[in-house]
Amino acid sequence: MKLYCATTNPGKVREFEHAAGELFPGEFEFALLPDFRRIHPPRETGGTFAENAALKAAYYSRHVAGLVFADDSGLAVDALGGEPGVHSARFSGDGATDESNNRMLLEKLEDEDNRNARYVCVIALATEGRLLGTFEGHVEGEILREARGDGGFGYDPYFLYPPFGLTFGEATKEQKLRVSHRGHALRAMLEFLKATKHAQAGVHSSQASG
Ligand code: IMP
Repeated sequence: MKLYCATTNPGKVREFEHAAGELFPGEFEFALLPDFRRIHPPRETGGTFAENAALKAAYYSRHVAGLVFADDSGLAVDALGGEPGVHSARFSGDGATDESNNRMLLEKLEDEDNRNARYVCVIALATEGRLLGTFEGHVEGEILREARGDGGFGYDPYFLYPPFGLTFGEATKEQKLRVSHRGHALRAMLEFLKATKHAQAGVHSSQASG
């Protein structure tokens, strides 16, 4: 089954492809949306990951025949009231980089003992402008004061996953996907697709965490 992936983030595409191949070998084929970069992106006006994922999936699915999915994800830090949340990519403002975002995160948490945080990912699946489902995944962790590892992307070198005793910057791709927010959300979508062959009329919604 072919799935179009509406993202420009190559780190995410690699994670999706890899996870799908491990979970259901040979069953799903991933393709970037044809001419994705030429399609004017929708404004991510949603206040939640689910709203943003749904609006992106529905929008992009009008540009190609078939199944299109989009994700919205980010980091929610307890001591910051859930921030950066839907603003994770641009936490440190216009022109933000992973480095500037991480610097901002550490500054804001400098005097905080409560370092609890979670990554959240919502994947939305759509076809011809119609939403078929949303699939949410979480993973709980802690924000370290020093970076460890240079794998992953974004906040990964500071995100400690206690059951492994490793940050997501230190974990292998396989380890991260087995427990990550994106892995859980992707798994839920693929299981839904396998179970229903996307024949259901209603809108499906699910949550998974680890
Ligand atoms: P999105 O592309 O709008 O979903 O924004 C996601 C942002 O959240 C990224 O730019 C990262 O800053 C952060 N983020 C989401 N998932 C991860 C992850 O798995 N590792 C590290 N950072 C992540």
